[in-house]
Amino acid sequence: MAIRQVVVWPDERLRQETKPVAEIDEHVRQLYRDLCDTMYDENGLGIAAIQIGDPTRMFLVEPRLAGRDQNDPPVAFINPEVVWTSEETQMSDEGCLSFPDVYVQVERPMKARIRALGIDGQIFEIEGEGLLARCLLHEFDHLTGKLLVDFVGPLKRQMIKRKLQKLQAREAAEAAE
Ligand SMILES: [Zn+2]
Repeated sequence: MAIRQVVVWPDERLRQETKPVAEIDEHVRQLYRDLCDTMYDENGLGIAAIQIGDPTRMFLVEPRLAGRDQNDPPVAFINPEVVWTSEETQMSDEGCLSFPDVYVQVERPMKARIRALGIDGQIFEIEGEGLLARCLLHEFDHLTGKLLVDFVGPLKRQMIKRKLQKLQAREAAEAAE
């Protein structure tokens, strides 16, 4: 088990450029295992590698949400591409492990189709609707450096920044005790 620290905004590492995977080697497999452990520890529906400070172009989605059995391992999306999105949209609150206790109204396509490489090295496609489409597009955004705060105005952005900085200061103080 290797639960890694989740990078919290406004940490600049969340804006790093991500790097495509050339080969599924031991580094990628280890990263996948760490992401699984960290996602489950945080009760997340998905997590991108950049959220634990690794700029590899990969994210994970919780198996049940991705249409698998709940005992299956999380689904890895390596070098993903968005191949199609519906014109129909949905509006809902969205959260993110890098924004603890923050929810933002985000308009997203109702359906999305993603093509990616799995952890087994096979290319696959998945079409998501509703929450799954939202989750896939949210995680995909991480790989392009796009974040929840990019969907809000400057005032709300400032509010979120203060809230998260306060939270981090409190955690740092608790850790020092
Ligand atoms: Zn996120």
